[in-house]
Amino acid sequence: MRLHDQPALTAAAAAGGPVIPVFILDDDGPDRWAMGAAGRWWLHESLVALDKDLRKRGSRLVLARGPALDVLADLARETDARAIYWSRAYEPWALKLERDLPRALESSGVRCRRFSGQLLIEPEEIATASGDPYRVFTPFYKACLNAGEPDAIVPAPPVLPPVPDAVDSDKLQSWKLQPSGPDWAGGLAAAWTPGEAGALARLDEFLDTGLAGYERTRDRPDREGTSRLSAHLRFGEISPRQIWHGVQKAANKSGGKAGAGAGAEGFLRQLLWREFSAHLLFHWPHILHSPFRNGFSAFPWRDDETALLAWQRGKTGYPVVDAGMRELLATGWIHNRVRMIVASFLVKDLLVPWQRGEEWFRDTLVDAELASNAANWQWVAGCGADAAPYGRIFNPVLQGKKFDPQGAYVKAWIPELAKLPKSHIHSPWRAPEKTLAKAGVALGEGYPAPIVDHKLARERALEAFAVVRGRAG
Ligand SMILES: Cc1cc2nc3c(=O)[nH]c(=O)nc-3n(C[C@H](O)[C@H](O)[C@H](O)COP(=O)(O)OP(=O)(O)OC[C@H]3O[C@@H](n4cnc5c(N)ncnc54)[C@H](O)[C@@H]3O)c2cc1C
Repeated sequence: MRLHDQPALTAAAAAGGPVIPVFILDDDGPDRWAMGAAGRWWLHESLVALDKDLRKRGSRLVLARGPALDVLADLARETDARAIYWSRAYEPWALKLERDLPRALESSGVRCRRFSGQLLIEPEEIATASGDPYRVFTPFYKACLNAGEPDAIVPAPPVLPPVPDAVDSDKLQSWKLQPSGPDWAGGLAAAWTPGEAGALARLDEFLDTGLAGYERTRDRPDREGTSRLSAHLRFGEISPRQIWHGVQKAANKSGGKAGAGAGAEGFLRQLLWREFSAHLLFHWPHILHSPFRNGFSAFPWRDDETALLAWQRGKTGYPVVDAGMRELLATGWIHNRVRMIVASFLVKDLLVPWQRGEEWFRDTLVDAELASNAANWQWVAGCGADAAPYGRIFNPVLQGKKFDPQGAYVKAWIPELAKLPKSHIHSPWRAPEKTLAKAGVALGEGYPAPIVDHKLARERALEAFAVVRGRAG
């Protein structure tokens, strides 16, 4: 969804003939992990932006819906296309499509050309000394750094040939990607600017004001300490290579350790977590639905719809958890530290299967990306590759105190608690009656009392883990 650093488009334009930029919405098949509501909102906005950017260069975006292979075959036949150019993807159905396309089209003289664009390092380019895929992040990270600098950025083609008038396009509105509830879309629109221009502006702002302090503030949900580039990356509005080079340039300008140099290393490490997730999905596609570690299939999860609903709505009684889940509903995004806290709460305090959390995130996050979402959920649950040890169960009160020390994050998302002093903001149930009354808090009436006792829930989780210990390896 971008024109800069888009090698497939640049190669197509360089070939000299007409170029038909086409976006296919292929979301009907049974094996699809359908895009969630927040993602569909973003997609709509991003398609509008991409079409505008193409028109500025003399082209336009063609929209089509249906099985991608059939749509492409029809379009190639109707337009007498000589080649199809695309950026590769790593989801299981994308891998299948990339295998099927040449088989279906090359016999009729259509060349199929696949390009990199989503990742810094292709999964086939990186392996352990014995040739196996990496299962552990740190050696993967080191190998990526040793692989050297990513290639230079490819500039956007300044002009593109017009799309012939005879080529039909669906009307975007007819896809109904936007949610019917205007309130929710309003919250998303207030928080984000989808599209390539929005992505580039976000990167610039982060390089100017966020990178230098990244290591200090990236764990603080009460600060704007991270880049918020994840959804732009997910929709390909910016390439990881543009981010990588932008960060390096800012760090070099600031001269090594001081300023941006200090944040660059930590930030690029996070960018490589994204690569690691894609690498895991490519080699172990089952991580989308099943534990990376086999032994975990016997884990005694609880089927607790009431608890799940309380978690989804931000009504667990644990302020930092609820603030995170309300931030998610309001803006389609949660800070990474809080994602870990809310995920730990769901799978460990409530013993709800991680797949239910993954599903909810997939529906509500604007950056929902299959690989990163599943890999991170499994990491928190303790069943993923290189996962957090199962016994590491976040205490939501201590996490709140540590990463939101003034309670500003909680107060921003839970107005019911806005007047509570910071000493009680992360555990209102421990506040004296008088303090609660003064702050206008009636636990259980407005803001809920805790739905579980964390201490007991922790013991229950450890007992549950004992069932699979040994088998989980
Ligand atoms: C349970 C859970 C689910 C998650 N689901 C997703 C998801 O669906 N999509 C998604 O992009 N990220 C996901 N993450 C990872 C992370 O929380 C987000 O990438 C990050 O919060 C995005 O904000 P940012 O762009 O400001 O991050 P920054 O801190 O600015 O990081 C820069 C970029 O690095 C990448 N990144 C950072 N941390 C991670 C990570 N742990 N794993 C993979 N990539 C990372 C992202 O692309 C991010 O934009 C999840 C984390 C958890 C704990």
